[in-house]
Amino acid sequence: MSRYLIDQYQSLEVYVPGEQPRDMQYVKLNTNESPYPPSPAVIDAVTKEAGRLQLYSDPTLMELREAIAGLYGVKRENVYASNGSDDILNFAFMAFAGKGGRAYFPDISYGFYKVFGDLHGVNYTTIPLEEDFSIDPEKYHNLDGLVVIANPNAPTGVALSVEEIEGIVKSNPNNVVLIDEAYVDFGGESCVGLTTKYDNLLVCQTFSKSRSMAGARLGFAIADAGLIGDLDRIRNTTNPYNVNRMTLSAGVAAIQDNDYYMDNCRKIEATRAETVRRLEGLGFTVIPSKANFIFAKSDKVDGGTLYRELKSRGVLVRHFESPRIKDFNRITIGTPEQMDVLVTKIKEILGV
Ligand SMILES: *Cc1c(COP(=O)(O)O)cnc(C)c1O
Repeated sequence: MSRYLIDQYQSLEVYVPGEQPRDMQYVKLNTNESPYPPSPAVIDAVTKEAGRLQLYSDPTLMELREAIAGLYGVKRENVYASNGSDDILNFAFMAFAGKGGRAYFPDISYGFYKVFGDLHGVNYTTIPLEEDFSIDPEKYHNLDGLVVIANPNAPTGVALSVEEIEGIVKSNPNNVVLIDEAYVDFGGESCVGLTTKYDNLLVCQTFSKSRSMAGARLGFAIADAGLIGDLDRIRNTTNPYNVNRMTLSAGVAAIQDNDYYMDNCRKIEATRAETVRRLEGLGFTVIPSKANFIFAKSDKVDGGTLYRELKSRGVLVRHFESPRIKDFNRITIGTPEQMDVLVTKIKEILGV
């Protein structure tokens, strides 16, 4: 840190992303990317758009907003899109909590919520998950600040129902409820349908996981036009061109090719079921997951050791040191072939 950095930023804890190593080729099951490539139409769209890079991108994102609106049955003024859903979360903490404002989210959830809370000086409270890692929706009723819930939650994969989310939204009429649906396409229930009924519900999703575009950086949100206008206001005071031309064209093509991506999600769900079955057979406890990852704990080897032993054998998973979850590893669901490697290496480590 230089001596020029102002005080308020010196003590910030930064978000630590999963490793993106360059030292060797790993079976990479640590950052919940899709194991499947973008559809050919997406690659084609990006290639074509590359020849127009001398021009700024459309700051209204109109074509993309219309495509997303069409797919989800809402109007284009109900759709926002940004440079990854992290960007949307950042703007939401800024717009709907802010300095001294309140926010509530689970103690075990996406690590970025705390980082954004600290960045914007938000007075946030974490609410402990239940013993089985589920969220008790009642604990989010009648609060007095921004409510943020990943549904399905990360890194647990546990999901709430639409009725449970509706209860939370209904009981917080004076605050925004942000539901982060980064993993909803892998078997969860989306609450996008509730956005026409409640003006305080902000649903955000990403092209990074189910739509094989983590490297393109594209996230979107669906909500009442009022909230969407607020997010646009923040974008237009920071960086109106925050979605680049190639990503915009990729996003439109991906929405048009929705069936390809939903087929991949069904494949990943089948691979998930098979992986759970095999790990349980090896004595693992696996939390029931509706995401493209599982959260699993061995009865024979501790979480940190398993992480390190797998890494030394070329398989990367995600381990979190925090006390409640240090026995677990979060394992992304890859192709069936990648999961075969995982299971083979785990057997080797366990000596079975
Ligand atoms: C991956 C993830 C995001 C971030 O997605 P990007 O669109 O890649 O920024 C947001 N929320 C959760 C819970 C995630 O796991």
